[in-house]
Amino acid sequence: MLTRYTQQIKLEEIGTEGQKKLENASVLCIGAGGIGVTLLSYLAGAGVGQLGILDDDLLEETNLHRQVLYQESHIHQTKALVAQMQLQALNSKIKIHAYPFRLALENAEQLISQYDLVADCSDNFYTRYLIHDTCFRLNKPYFYASAYQFKGHYALFYGKENGCFHCVFPSVPKTMKQCQSGGVIGTLPGLLGIIQATELIKWITGAGTLLKNKLLTIDFLSMEFKNYEFIKNEGCFFCVHGKSMEYPEDLCTLVKEPDSFAVTTHEFPDFLKQYPEALLLDVRTHEEHEARNIGGTLIPIDELESRVTELNPSQPILVYCYSGQRSRRAFDLLRGAGFSLVYHLEKGLSKLLAI
Ligand SMILES: [Zn+2]
Repeated sequence: MLTRYTQQIKLEEIGTEGQKKLENASVLCIGAGGIGVTLLSYLAGAGVGQLGILDDDLLEETNLHRQVLYQESHIHQTKALVAQMQLQALNSKIKIHAYPFRLALENAEQLISQYDLVADCSDNFYTRYLIHDTCFRLNKPYFYASAYQFKGHYALFYGKENGCFHCVFPSVPKTMKQCQSGGVIGTLPGLLGIIQATELIKWITGAGTLLKNKLLTIDFLSMEFKNYEFIKNEGCFFCVHGKSMEYPEDLCTLVKEPDSFAVTTHEFPDFLKQYPEALLLDVRTHEEHEARNIGGTLIPIDELESRVTELNPSQPILVYCYSGQRSRRAFDLLRGAGFSLVYHLEKGLSKLLAI
């Protein structure tokens, strides 16, 4: 019976003990899209004893370029049910449950509480917040992965002492505000599903070291993979102050973008009051900084990309320069690198110091 798993049992880190652990494990996969079907295929292949698939979508032709578990004949059928059938054909020895409905505030806890581990393969931020928050309350590990255009994220959130999803994403990132409206290269969700499945298998079997307290960002255009360490945000409304978030009724609702991440000269004193822990980041040259500055850290714009790891993604950052141009570039660079708490001083010191 274990013959099919021979190649992974051979691994010292897994062995027959690890295989038993896989057999006794249960994983709920929320979202049976490009990430989800890849994750599910490998977990079913590896012999994870119980898999849950939650998705209320019907398969569309436009899904096929990335959701390679499905076939043309499945178009217009319910993804969760087709995935269950396909995966059961791959491994008849495991239990697979299909939930062909939408995750909602009313059913999240009841569903998630039935599984050991949760893989978030959903496609929008409010659903992610809801899954994360429910996992946090139930003390379940939350494996997050997302893919958008050419960029992807992976992270594991677990443990009250560690940073939570809200610490890292206090608001919906500007570049990921819609459900699948911006396109995605088909191979990216596949890779993210593989990374997520690998980390789940490592968690279950105890093999290797998990990627913890780090956000892995992948850029397929430059093929750059980076890890950003994150820590608990001591001001986090969710994991520190114990407040809950308000979810819109339709979780896939479009997010109204904040008016701006620009801080005007006028707003500057209020910004400092609101974010007393904020880092002021001067991106001018050493000479300019020496001549006059408003405190904080200096990282000249030309060095920012290579020194980005010196910055803490869970600390609010206000970037400034002389006229507001370099700080705007730095803002874009940091946002692109996954920093969500970045602001820039509009019109720079020229305006601020003129008052
Ligand atoms: Zn938090």
